[in-house]
Amino acid sequence: MSEKVWETYRLETLDRLVFVGTSDLSGILRGKSFPLSEWDKRVRCGLGWTPTNVQITCFDSLSKSQFGSFGDLALVPDPTTRITLDRSDNVFDFVLGNIYNLDGTPWSYCTRSLARRAIEALYQTCGAKPFAAFEHEFQIANMSPRTGDSFGLKGFRDAKEWSGDFMAALAQSGCMPDSFMKEYGPSQYEVTVKPAIGLTAPDHAVILRALAHDVIGSHGAIPSFSPILHPDNVGNGVHIHFSFIDNMGVPLAYDEDNPHEMSELTRHFIGGILRYLDQILALLAPSEISYLRLKPHRWSAAYNNLGYRDREASVRICPVSKLSHKEVSKQFNFEVRAVDGAASPYLAYAALVFAGTQGVRDRIEPPPPTEQDLSLLSEEDLAASNFKRLPQSLTEALGCLGSSRAVRDWFGDNFVDAYIAHKRGEMEVLSGLDWAEKCTRYKDVY
Ligand code: GLU
Ligand code: MG
Repeated sequence: MSEKVWETYRLETLDRLVFVGTSDLSGILRGKSFPLSEWDKRVRCGLGWTPTNVQITCFDSLSKSQFGSFGDLALVPDPTTRITLDRSDNVFDFVLGNIYNLDGTPWSYCTRSLARRAIEALYQTCGAKPFAAFEHEFQIANMSPRTGDSFGLKGFRDAKEWSGDFMAALAQSGCMPDSFMKEYGPSQYEVTVKPAIGLTAPDHAVILRALAHDVIGSHGAIPSFSPILHPDNVGNGVHIHFSFIDNMGVPLAYDEDNPHEMSELTRHFIGGILRYLDQILALLAPSEISYLRLKPHRWSAAYNNLGYRDREASVRICPVSKLSHKEVSKQFNFEVRAVDGAASPYLAYAALVFAGTQGVRDRIEPPPPTEQDLSLLSEEDLAASNFKRLPQSLTEALGCLGSSRAVRDWFGDNFVDAYIAHKRGEMEVLSGLDWAEKCTRYKDVY
């Protein structure tokens, strides 16, 4: 159909295409579209989806699939996640979906359904719901960096063509902006949105990345959420901030009488995350180049430690302030710093909530916050401390994931085996490339 004919058709029928997407194992939003006039039908039955798609890597290669050419599934829109952005020149209409077997049960490899299951497990264990916010760093890949511009006004103003539109698109989508800034690194920016309950938090992360590419891209700037754009450069982190509320919205993360003001729930949840961090890392930092970022002195996460006023910790208790009009119990939160933008927000979230829930069940105590630079300890002193250096490559992290009985119990053996096969295929695409070339490949994808 020519553009003109299509435009007439669109105006006459008020029909347009709605995209329904799933953030898959590679963290890419993939899906199909359908005419809006069929909304009711599609919300009931979805669109056909193919099991083998689970093995499409971020480079569009196909890893070894256990499904081959067999099987059928349905990708079903969740109407509560529908976004309609009516911008001057076009309408961007999309909705997030869940993947179901044709008998209506959630498909074991549906990342959104796995995150929902983790949230339910926490709720069943202690009546708490996660209240979380994703803080994203990204770089504008085609922008020449300026010197003297870390947190700078000039860099902030360099973004003026797109930052207003981007913030407006986020707000229209229900992801309320909390803050936006020119970050430390060259052409690096950071955006944080307000916290949201349960599954809405990772939904917002998926939506934020989609809007960044769509809206910022429409201004000619190319954002990249890749973990690192060059081995010598800064990393782009995704810090996930957690607190908890009960059914009535009462905050549950804070207790002024406890050490570092962590409630028992917070302490055990963090205890679980730190106990299992090496085993879930491949889901949080899922690319080979993620491990260039997870090194000491990169302000990311190198050990399974807790930090208080320390940005070199995997989990950091965030500050609260008397300057705020909000009660301390509503400000109190902690952030997990080991995640990056190559991870599906659903898988990272599911892994953290499953590990945290296990911590609550088993009443795991976290170690006290570190007060020293762990990278300066000798191997013996580190071994004698409570801390472990996190896996230093994707291969090592996948080994820890594959041999974790706990992760297999939470996610299912089939999922874990498929994930490992997926990532092995992704690594094969990169074999023979040097680190800079690998970074370039990821820069173009995320
Ligand atoms: N860029 C750092 C990271 O990779 C985080 C810097 C900061 O915001 O503290 O996580
Ligand atoms: Mg930052």
